[in-house]
Amino acid sequence: MAGGTAAEGGAEKEDQRMQSQTGSRTALVEDLMGRFPDVPREAVIKEDLLRGGMAFDESALSGSSGTGGGEVKPKSYFIFSFDHRTLPELGAAALNRPPEEIVLTGGPYELRRTVVSVRVNPDSPYRVGAGDDGTLGLYLDGVRIADVGLPPMPDYYRHTLANGKSVMEVAPTIQWGYLIYLTVFRVCQYFGAKEECQYCDINHNWRQHKAAGRPYTGVKPVEEVLEALALIDEHDTARASKAYTLTGGAITSQVGGKDEADFYGQYAKAIEERFPGRWIGKVVAQALPREDVQRFHDYGVRIYHPNFEVWDKRLFELYCPGKERYVGRDEWHRRILDSTEVFGPENVIPNFVAGVEMAAPHGFTTVDEAISSTEEGLRYFMSHGVVPRFTTWCPEPTTPLGKANPDGAPLEYHIRLLQTYRGTLEEFGLSSPPGYGPAGPGNAVFSVSSFMDSLTG
Ligand code: SF4
Repeated sequence: MAGGTAAEGGAEKEDQRMQSQTGSRTALVEDLMGRFPDVPREAVIKEDLLRGGMAFDESALSGSSGTGGGEVKPKSYFIFSFDHRTLPELGAAALNRPPEEIVLTGGPYELRRTVVSVRVNPDSPYRVGAGDDGTLGLYLDGVRIADVGLPPMPDYYRHTLANGKSVMEVAPTIQWGYLIYLTVFRVCQYFGAKEECQYCDINHNWRQHKAAGRPYTGVKPVEEVLEALALIDEHDTARASKAYTLTGGAITSQVGGKDEADFYGQYAKAIEERFPGRWIGKVVAQALPREDVQRFHDYGVRIYHPNFEVWDKRLFELYCPGKERYVGRDEWHRRILDSTEVFGPENVIPNFVAGVEMAAPHGFTTVDEAISSTEEGLRYFMSHGVVPRFTTWCPEPTTPLGKANPDGAPLEYHIRLLQTYRGTLEEFGLSSPPGYGPAGPGNAVFSVSSFMDSLTG
């Protein structure tokens, strides 16, 4: 159960104590690098950037408003905002987008190539900017700790669809071009405080892009998706793109006369008919009954992500009230395991949001408890051959959990999770899940958590 005594002391307090004693985030990072030498140093930095964000000097912004001009691939806002401020609060970083991702190398920690998704936080102690020699670097507490590479603007982003929409709007790519991210339904039918997941800003992100006058298609027509994919197929001559993900909000009734399986499935069917086997097809959707899951597979989807979000029963009920009300946690888990009969256990990869276990006021107050709960969930799935994966929680300010926990979860939680994840995976004789590109420090491209950076390559 959640909780923990004041005497045990919260890990967040431990983070704060470490920082206030030494006055620096650097001390916290180096302390954890020293205490957990089996976790790659790259992952420590990456987790800290993902949980707390990074600031940008204006010189390090992409110089693109998202229209395809410029040399740097801009942040596409592919589903959630993944920022620590709202667009109106971001100023220049909103008008002149930051890059989608950055890649870190070198510096005093001798970082191997590390791809990190960009989450903007103007108050972060991490800052991306140009050094005296003009080259971009990542600065922590004012000290340069890595060289920074920016993703080049892909050729396919320079083209538009016949109706003028950009490829970035319809079919953005992430993970250094590996994954085409097709958020084909930009809102969620779990709506409002009593239904929305408490860490999710999908509906807010939709509203803020609309309010800013940005193109942001609510339901992407199948034909537009195919047209954008044709541009990617034609111009991605290095064939860096290897997979696509179909996703969006939960559908509790219908969209365009279709239920969730048929709605998301129709895109896979059209893609597989037009580009058979060109990419690995994945879908992130609710844990659906077996016959619906079968339809996904029949449509051509090969990897199914029925996300379990957070393991602890009480926290799931509190954080995912819509899912609890419509499906319920036990049934959700049963459906995840049932879907292995359709997809094979190795192709069922449920996500969880790493860090929300420790969100105040309901979460665990010690890292020990939070890790032990998460480990229980990992063991439950891995004992059935199912390998979950996780996204590092970004406490977006318009979500209830983000508002109450602007600093996110303690860094120690994230580091110990990486250790626990790898240990549990090895214990059950499993390896990294398919569809995530290469594993291992220096090789991984998965950008929204460092679980792939922490596994053996
Ligand atoms: S189901 Fe929850 S996490 Fe998924 S889009 Fe809806 S509110 Fe967000």
